[in-house]
Amino acid sequence: MREVRLPGNLSTVPTAVPVLTALRAQAPGLLHVVDPYKVPLAEAVEKSRAVADLGHPALLVGSTDNAAFDRQVVPYVAELRERTDLPLVLHFPSIPGRGAPLCPGADAVLVHAVPNSVRSFFVSGGLTATVRAATALGQDRPELLRSASFAFGSDGKTHEAVGAPPTVQDGAELPRLVAAVAAADFDLAYLLYRHGRVPEAVLRAYRRGLAPQQLLFVGGGVTSYRQVREYHDCGVDWVVVGNGLETADWRETLRRLSGRPGDRAGDPAAHPTLAAELQRGLRRPVRTDLPGRQAYATNVGRLHELLPAVVAPVTSAEEVAHVLRTTRAAGTPVAVRGSGHSFGLQGLSDGGVLIVGEPGDPAVRLRDEGTAEVSARAPWYAAEMALNARGRSIPVLTNHLTVSIGGTLSVGGYGEGTIRYGGQVDLVERFRLILPDGQARWCSPVESPELFRYGIGALGQLGVLDRVVLRTVDYQRHTTIATRRHPSLTALVGSIGWLAEEQRSPVDLFSAQHYEGGFIATYGMRGDGPLPPQLRRQTETRVEADWPLRSMRESRRNPADPSVHFIWADYCLSLPAAAEFARFLDAEILPSPGYREGAGRLLMLGVHRPEQRPGVPFTPAAGLRGLAVGFGLYFSVPRGDGAGVARVQGLHRQVLAECLALGGRPYLAGWYDLDEADLQSMYGADLAAVRRLRRELDPYGLFNPGLLA
Ligand SMILES: Cc1cc2nc3c(=O)[nH]c(=O)nc-3n(C[C@H](O)[C@H](O)[C@H](O)COP(=O)(O)OP(=O)(O)OC[C@H]3O[C@@H](n4cnc5c(N)ncnc54)[C@H](O)[C@@H]3O)c2cc1C
Repeated sequence: MREVRLPGNLSTVPTAVPVLTALRAQAPGLLHVVDPYKVPLAEAVEKSRAVADLGHPALLVGSTDNAAFDRQVVPYVAELRERTDLPLVLHFPSIPGRGAPLCPGADAVLVHAVPNSVRSFFVSGGLTATVRAATALGQDRPELLRSASFAFGSDGKTHEAVGAPPTVQDGAELPRLVAAVAAADFDLAYLLYRHGRVPEAVLRAYRRGLAPQQLLFVGGGVTSYRQVREYHDCGVDWVVVGNGLETADWRETLRRLSGRPGDRAGDPAAHPTLAAELQRGLRRPVRTDLPGRQAYATNVGRLHELLPAVVAPVTSAEEVAHVLRTTRAAGTPVAVRGSGHSFGLQGLSDGGVLIVGEPGDPAVRLRDEGTAEVSARAPWYAAEMALNARGRSIPVLTNHLTVSIGGTLSVGGYGEGTIRYGGQVDLVERFRLILPDGQARWCSPVESPELFRYGIGALGQLGVLDRVVLRTVDYQRHTTIATRRHPSLTALVGSIGWLAEEQRSPVDLFSAQHYEGGFIATYGMRGDGPLPPQLRRQTETRVEADWPLRSMRESRRNPADPSVHFIWADYCLSLPAAAEFARFLDAEILPSPGYREGAGRLLMLGVHRPEQRPGVPFTPAAGLRGLAVGFGLYFSVPRGDGAGVARVQGLHRQVLAECLALGGRPYLAGWYDLDEADLQSMYGADLAAVRRLRRELDPYGLFNPGLLA
């Protein structure tokens, strides 16, 4: 039982809320650790008040050091105890022979056992010694929080302090360690990565493996609210930040890390000069009012709410360049958004400036060789209608034509025409990119070829797309359509092998979907010409006018619904693997309660011989051969239904694991749960190249962060 001092009152009252109970009740959250060897006492007092105001349940006092503990730390804690009501938790390595150092004024002590230490005292001896020392204190003993602690990456300081080698991040040793922690009498697992980030796969392995009452702490290198949220999303209970607050502007950093909208972080009041500076080069008003910023705080998935400080609407390349130069000069992060029809953290800014492309005129310029130059800020329907009026058409259109051309080209863009022409990215012959320093650069296979390779289909991480030159085809008003029904997904996939038999796709359009308990495949030929012989039997045929724009009408009936979370993802595999994948979906996913409860839908597309196309390395069919098949699994869950969201995310994780095991790839437009190891194994040298280019083009790390960064 600990005693709580009432503010401004010398009386004390007993309370029955131990620190561990509060940590369990208030998770997930952020904790701060002040280092008494580095942080002056007055500043520690200020910090204890600031974190108390933010609702933190405790303040950690700790260090990797424990030298001269009694002389240096004991008076510090005693003084701090006098000046704050917040529970204080000691957080030091054990001292051989003594255990975790204890002192009056501390409410609790994190006692670190380091199961993989090369020094036996730190494996279990420290814990035994601490229990003995605490017991001897009788009623004054602090609460002991038993922690199984691991250090990741190369970390000389921790190795020296507790003999901890870098902890394994994969292989058979990982589940063995997790199981050992779960089976022992630990209150928590503490994962420290001083110079990096604990991989998601490791966090999830701990979260899955730990007993329900065991907490998961993670610490080291946390600098943004986005990181804190990502750790929480992986099941971390408490994110510990230390060095990150050892700066002059720690108050602002603390509020930013705590993600407190309405506080100065993310508040335009924190950036009045910046907003005025931005406005000087923009035609439309920047948004610094709360409703204006809230309108851009999420995307169609609605799983995250990140408030930008300033929303900067842009209508031209010059305006984009102005925003990029101004934010770089101010050292402010800047993110890029089209129409916000994406998932996960795409198109969001966490307290920085958000560039939003204003849709406007597609400004179509037709060229002799059948290509068209269009504005990347325009929506696809505007470009397609302008082209149709001039006798041309974009041969691949997606299901949703109100999204921006730049937004879709930063992921891929797939539709019925993909069977013949690949993704919309495969139609691109040239584009103009506004680089993070504001310079405009035309890119093609012969002009800045490396930027051409990575400037599209890579989540917009190298610059803002401004103008795009696309291949087009003759506009044909009519399309001949054939539909065929199949009893199962397995039967459907088993029936499409003929699509890859010839050098050129035998059909112009292909898609399939779950329909009336079975599956329906739709094949199409532009114009009213004949269908291939394979479709002359067992199909229903008809001729439709303006078929591609039908999707546009559908999309108008299907606006992004603010009352639901869309949790969508697509998976792409070569045909033989797709056959196996279809059997898996038929057996494990489509009949599952989660599919039904998440209002699941399934859509299928095909890519004819992806190996014939020039590489857009991060797109889903890159590296696949023959016929590649894309499976879209689309769920919608009522907004705020956390259990429903978790269920659907669980299904997607299961499907992603199967897809990767079969050599497939996800489509980066959707919601996915990929860790660094997945990225490395899928993208290898291309990932390294994008990261190198980012370092060259964006040395301060301010531009449009994302999965590949
Ligand atoms: C209802 C619906 C139907 C869909 N149907 C399909 C479909 O049939 N086929 C398909 O392939 N996809 C489909 N999608 C996915 C959609 O095409 C992508 O999510 C696309 O990225 C959305 O474009 P956006 O303009 O909304 O981009 P945003 O969501 O605003 O941004 C997406 C990403 O692109 C980046 N970005 C945006 N603009 C630029 C730019 N000018 N320069 C550089 N980077 C930029 C952002 O930083 C972000 O990383 C669908 C999505 C929805 C919601």
